[in-house]
Amino acid sequence: MQTIHLLAVGSVPNGMLDRLAAGLARTLRVSCRVEKTVLDAAFAADIERGQYYSTAIIARLFSANPPAGHVLLGVTTLDLYVPILTFVYGEAQVSGPCAVVSGHRLREEFYGLPADATKLDARLLIEALHEIGHTQGLRHCQDWSCAMASSHSIELLDLKQAGYCAECAARMEGRS
Ligand SMILES: [Zn+2]
Ligand SMILES: [Zn+2]
Repeated sequence: MQTIHLLAVGSVPNGMLDRLAAGLARTLRVSCRVEKTVLDAAFAADIERGQYYSTAIIARLFSANPPAGHVLLGVTTLDLYVPILTFVYGEAQVSGPCAVVSGHRLREEFYGLPADATKLDARLLIEALHEIGHTQGLRHCQDWSCAMASSHSIELLDLKQAGYCAECAARMEGRS
């Protein structure tokens, strides 16, 4: 993996992408670029669910045809879903170049708690590492503290570290 391109999907708070890019660059030691364009996600909206179909967003990202070695990561605050689940924090192409991650359910406010910008950034970094791991061919990990652990609740997500276990880290290295 040479470069991660971060692209806003819908409007995203000021600085969110820059902070995520800095976190990813620091953790993965890979160059990160925040794209100036914003992808309007209206095409992926499900009006009844009030959510956005993550697989459709990934397909749209993929149509940009990212060159080999580049990862295109959509970042959104919209609530994402796939038809079989009530929601997803993100989705990725396994061994493909595109992924999307949402901060919607990573906000403390979503759980009726006071806003915590630091917590939101930390969770978003973990979820971005998770989806980027999938793009590099990584599967779910049994180590609950590894970024590649599967998490369907914020409690499980908060057990994860902003990094990979030794086994997943070795797989990431083997890919770069
Ligand atoms: Zn996953
Ligand atoms: Zn792992």
